[in-house]
Amino acid sequence: MRYGNTKKIMVTGGAGFLGSHLCERLLDQGHEILCVDNFFTGSRRNIAHLLGNPRFEMLRHDVTFPLYVEVDEIYNLACPASPVHYQFDPVQTTKTSVIGAINMLGLAKRVKAKIFQASTSEVYGDPEVHPQPEEYWGRVNPIGFRSCYDEGKRCAETLFFDYRRQHNLQIKVVRIFNTYGPRMHPNDGRVVSNLIMQALKGEDITLYGDGQQTRSFCYVDDLIDGFIRLMDTGPEITGPINIGNPGEFTIRQLADLVIEITGSKSKLVHRPLPPDDPRQRRPDITKAKEILGWSPTIDLKAGLEKTVLYFDAYLREANNRDQ
Ligand code: NAD
Ligand code: UDP
Ligand code: UDP
Repeated sequence: MRYGNTKKIMVTGGAGFLGSHLCERLLDQGHEILCVDNFFTGSRRNIAHLLGNPRFEMLRHDVTFPLYVEVDEIYNLACPASPVHYQFDPVQTTKTSVIGAINMLGLAKRVKAKIFQASTSEVYGDPEVHPQPEEYWGRVNPIGFRSCYDEGKRCAETLFFDYRRQHNLQIKVVRIFNTYGPRMHPNDGRVVSNLIMQALKGEDITLYGDGQQTRSFCYVDDLIDGFIRLMDTGPEITGPINIGNPGEFTIRQLADLVIEITGSKSKLVHRPLPPDDPRQRRPDITKAKEILGWSPTIDLKAGLEKTVLYFDAYLREANNRDQ
């Protein structure tokens, strides 16, 4: 039974970093949430505060297996996002993106649900076009260490557009650029979590390569706002649409900012650059502005301050547990 505009919404990968924020925001809007996750990189801790809500339900399930449930909307976020995690079992990563997409699209087709795909700026690979607009087809190595993730996500996009052309599904594809914030996995090797954890623990801060490569960092609350705006558009809007913060920083600049905010005494040290590491990345968000009326509102310093508070509390909790 549905009341008013309340929908039954499934979020795959709902116990992860982005998924847990999305579940929280959709619950606040009054919807019923089915969170589906196999806890590969997600955790109960991320959703512990939602478990008491009668409109929230958690299902432990791997999206590479079929799933038969009745829902109005699907947000498909299931997939490890950090290079350390997605390279741990690369075959499973491709399966999660490709077979997971097929299963979720099959489900959406059967129940006539709108379906959203969390794609990635990695579909642009190591780009020759800067900043990257959605029309750019990308430059991706099909056989490298990052390919399980990049090509898996590219194939998932293909499937979304073919299910639309063949079966008239309502699809929404978002290409997410590097996003950070509370509930990022503290040990997932991504640059924001690594640098903050190192700074807070007084360990050396690791810059891969010369630290002059760039990324654009979006605060999680801004990103989730963009997701929901896209999902709420009419059937003619499919994406792919870039969501990210166009502020571009070198990794060295990011490190300096983290040191400033934490007041850390940590030293900067250089480590080898991982293979196929993109040299620069910045979203062109013209479409997000025009179609969704969306642009980010939280700058890097303000977002990092909130994230530092989260990691600081996390470390204190961990220390108390160990004592
Ligand atoms: P995350 O690792 O915190 O979350 C991914 C979630 O998916 C985890 O809870 C994990 O347990 C779950 N999962 C993985 N494989 C699964 C499977 N086979 N079945 C069910 N659940 C499974 O990562 P995140 O940063 O929250 O990323 C969420 C989504 O956004 C991913 O699809 C990722 O590719 C995409 N994305 C994230 C970023 C970013 O900067 N955070 C950038 C681009 C794209
Ligand atoms: N599927 C699912 N839940 C459903 C419907 C389908 O998990 O409610 C899976 C099922 O495993 C199937 C896949 O989605 O293999 C693709 O479904 P589709 O109907 O497109 O293809 P078909 O069943 O014809 O292979
Ligand atoms: N990076 C770094 N030090 C770290 C972790 C990452 O210099 O401790 C670099 C990494 O080489 C890359 C950038 O920071 O150039 C972003 O890395 P991340 O793994 O966060 O994301 P992605 O490469 O997927 O954008």
